[in-house]
Amino acid sequence: MLYKAKDKIEKDYDVIVIGSGLAGMTAANRLAKDNIKVLLLEAHNKLGGFATWFYRERKKHVFDVSLHGFPAGMIKTCRRYWSKEIADHIVQLKGVRFVNPQYNLESDFTKTDYINKLTNFFKIPEKTVIDFFNYIEQMNFYDDQSMTNRELFEKFFPGRNDVMRFLMEPIVYANGSTLDDPAISYGIVFTNFMKKGVYTFKGGTDYIIKMMQDELLKNEVDIKKHAKVEKILIKDGVTKGVVVAGQEIKSKAVVSNGNLQTTVLNMIDPEILPTEFISRTKEVRLNSSSCQVYIGIKPECKIDHIGDLIFTSTYPTFDTDALMDFRITSRTFSIYYPEGRPFDENQKYAIVSSTNCHYDDWKKLDEYQYKEEKQKMIDETIECLEKFIPDIRDKIDYIDAATPLTVERYTHHKKGASFGTKFEGLDISMNLHKYVPGLFHAGSVGIIMSGWLGAANYGVIQANEVSSYLFTQKEN
Ligand SMILES: Cc1cc2nc3c(=O)[nH]c(=O)nc-3n(C[C@H](O)[C@H](O)[C@H](O)COP(=O)(O)OP(=O)(O)OC[C@H]3O[C@@H](n4cnc5c(N)ncnc54)[C@H](O)[C@@H]3O)c2cc1C
Repeated sequence: MLYKAKDKIEKDYDVIVIGSGLAGMTAANRLAKDNIKVLLLEAHNKLGGFATWFYRERKKHVFDVSLHGFPAGMIKTCRRYWSKEIADHIVQLKGVRFVNPQYNLESDFTKTDYINKLTNFFKIPEKTVIDFFNYIEQMNFYDDQSMTNRELFEKFFPGRNDVMRFLMEPIVYANGSTLDDPAISYGIVFTNFMKKGVYTFKGGTDYIIKMMQDELLKNEVDIKKHAKVEKILIKDGVTKGVVVAGQEIKSKAVVSNGNLQTTVLNMIDPEILPTEFISRTKEVRLNSSSCQVYIGIKPECKIDHIGDLIFTSTYPTFDTDALMDFRITSRTFSIYYPEGRPFDENQKYAIVSSTNCHYDDWKKLDEYQYKEEKQKMIDETIECLEKFIPDIRDKIDYIDAATPLTVERYTHHKKGASFGTKFEGLDISMNLHKYVPGLFHAGSVGIIMSGWLGAANYGVIQANEVSSYLFTQKEN
C-alpha cells in the first residue's frame, strides 16, 4: 500500500528500506518478490533519489537529471529484478560524439567500434588494443587495487594522452573517477559500457519511476514518502527497526540507502562500533559533484539530429583536474529528442549540459558571486552549443543552471556528491552488517557501485545478504 503523509504505521515488517534511490528500490523489490514484508520509507515527495526529473512552466518542459546513459546490463537487471515491461523500454543511444582539440569522432560506444578507432584512427597496434581489452575485462573487485588509472594507461599506451582521453573521458563523466583512482574502478565500469554501448529509458525518468512504484506496490511493498528516518533502532547490538517523526517502527532488518557516513555516524549510536571502523568511516572520501545547465526548446522549434551525447572540450589535452576546474572547458551535452518521450505528447526537445566540478569552488562564493558565476556558466554553455546548433539562441524557451549547492539542497547529499564515495566506501558499506547484525547499506559507493546500473545491482547484492540474514535468524 501507498501510505499517505499523515498515516501512522502500526505494522511490524521483516525489512525496512530507508531511501528509494535505485539501490533502495531494487533491494525492496528483490526482497518483496521472495514474499518478505518490506516497508520503503522515502524522505522526499517522490521515489527515485538521483534518478529524478523536474518540470518547469506548468509541465511545458521536463528535465531528466541523471538519465544521460547507462550500460546495456541495465536491461538484464530490470528484466530479472523488476519486470520485462520495464526492461523492454530500454533503448540504445547510438550517436556518441567526441569533439576536442585532439580529435573529432563519432562512435556507438561499443567495443567493436572502439577497437576499430583505436587501430585505424589512433594507429595503435591491434595486439596492444586486444591485450588492453583482455586485461580490463578480467578485472574484478577482488583484484589488487594498487594500480591507478594513470598507471593502467601508461602500461598499454605510454605517452598517448589522446588515447587516454578517448578511453577515459566518458567514464569520468559517468562516475567522477580521476587518474589517481584504482584502475579497477575504471576497468569494471568501462567494460560494462563496452559490452554493448550506451542505453537510455524510453519515456524518461518520470515514466520508469512510475513503473517501478507500480511494481513495488504490486509486489506488496508498503511505501511511505515524506518519511525521513531519524534513527535506526539497535537493541543489545542488534537492529530492531527505525524511528520516523518520533515513532518507532519495528523490523527484523534495515537496509539504508542513505548517505554511508550519515548512516554509520549519525543514525546509529557509534558507541556500539569498534573505534577502528568509525575512524575508517570518517576517512571515506566523497566523490566529486557536478553542474548542469538545463535548456528547454520552444515547442514550435526543431533540432536536427546532432547526436545523443556530445563530449566536448576546448582544453588542449586530457586532464581529470581540468575536467573539474571551476573555469569550465569541458561539457557533455545530452540531447533529448521528442522520440525519447513518446508517451507524452507535450514534450519536445531538451538539452542538458553537464560538467564535473568541486563543491568547495561553489560553496566559497558569496550570494552575488554565486549568481554571477551561474549566469556566466549559462552564457558560456550557449556559446559552446552554438557550434553544434548555430541558431540555438532563437530556439531557447527556458534555461537555468544547477550547481553542487543545488544538488546538495535537493538531495541532502553531503557536499552535493553526485557519484557516492571513493573506492574505500565499498568496504565500509559491505561490512556494516558484520558489526551491527541486521543493518545493511546499499547505495552509490566505491565508484563501481554507482550509476543507475551499479546502484541497482548493489541493491540486489545487499538484498541477498538480507535474505541470508533473515534465514539464519529463522533457523536460530
Ligand atoms: C547530475 C547527475 C547525473 C548523473 N548521470 C548519470 C547517468 O547518466 N547515468 C548513470 O548511470 N548514473 C548517473 N548518475 C548517477 C546515478 O543517478 C546515481 O548513482 C544513482 O541514481 C544513485 O542511486 P542510489 O541508490 O545510490 O541512491 P540515491 O539516488 O542517492 O537516493 C537515496 C535516497 O534516499 C533518500 N534518503 C536519504 N536519507 C534518508 C532518510 N534518512 N530517510 C528517508 N529517506 C532518505 C533520499 O531522499 C534519496 O531519495 C548521475 C548523478 C547525478 C547527480
